[in-house]
Amino acid sequence: MSKLVVANWKMNPQTAGAARKILRGIRPVTGVETVVCPPFPFLHGLGSRPGIKFGAQDVFWEPAGAYTGEVSAGMLQSGKAEWVIVGHSERRRLGDSDEAVNKKLRAALRAGLPVILCVGEPAKVRAKGPAAVRKFVGEELRRGLQGVKDLRKVVVAYEPIWAVSTNPGSSADRPEDAAAMVRFVKGKVPVRALYGGSIGARNAGSFLDLREVDGALVGGASLKPEEFNRILAAASGKVRDKK
Ligand code: PEP
Repeated sequence: MSKLVVANWKMNPQTAGAARKILRGIRPVTGVETVVCPPFPFLHGLGSRPGIKFGAQDVFWEPAGAYTGEVSAGMLQSGKAEWVIVGHSERRRLGDSDEAVNKKLRAALRAGLPVILCVGEPAKVRAKGPAAVRKFVGEELRRGLQGVKDLRKVVVAYEPIWAVSTNPGSSADRPEDAAAMVRFVKGKVPVRALYGGSIGARNAGSFLDLREVDGALVGGASLKPEEFNRILAAASGKVRDKK
């Protein structure tokens, strides 16, 4: 079973030309499922690229109507998205509650769009120790997946918020702690589970070598093609748990 590596470009780069340039620099690797999630306006124009799938960074739960600024799952699919991220900590910080995340996730699944559900604790919860972290993440999973019976199109990304590179003082989780949380997630729900948070070329192997870690969600480093290629290389040939 190959690993899944997801690039989250966040609100970058600033132009369609720059987005195409980054994409051109990415060298997909056989045996690694690679998903690039650009900002909405670039999704369609990036064209197709063998070995690379596209995903969106968010979705709205209604299929159509008077929801200015929102984008439906159906629109994403017609704009080439084959995946969608929901519940990223940067969206939660902007106001997405667990209930909203659940509605978005269910809308995507209704449309047949596979979902990457992000979960992860803030620094103040981490400081309380592993039991508090498990309780927090367990609740996010429970609320995020409420009412979802078929989990075949759900992937969970464990992303401790304090480890996401855009947060002050961030650093990657220890691989053994990330692995323990991935096992915890899989113990709760039968899904593929990724790790995300300050992954770069230097440390990707220490996460992707772990059998229980089914892949990586990569933010900042995914905007640098050479670095991202080294992450893909680190994922290549690495096996993951069969599910
Ligand atoms: C992310 O955006 O999901 C992420 C993990 O970011 P970074 O890799 O930059 O920490």
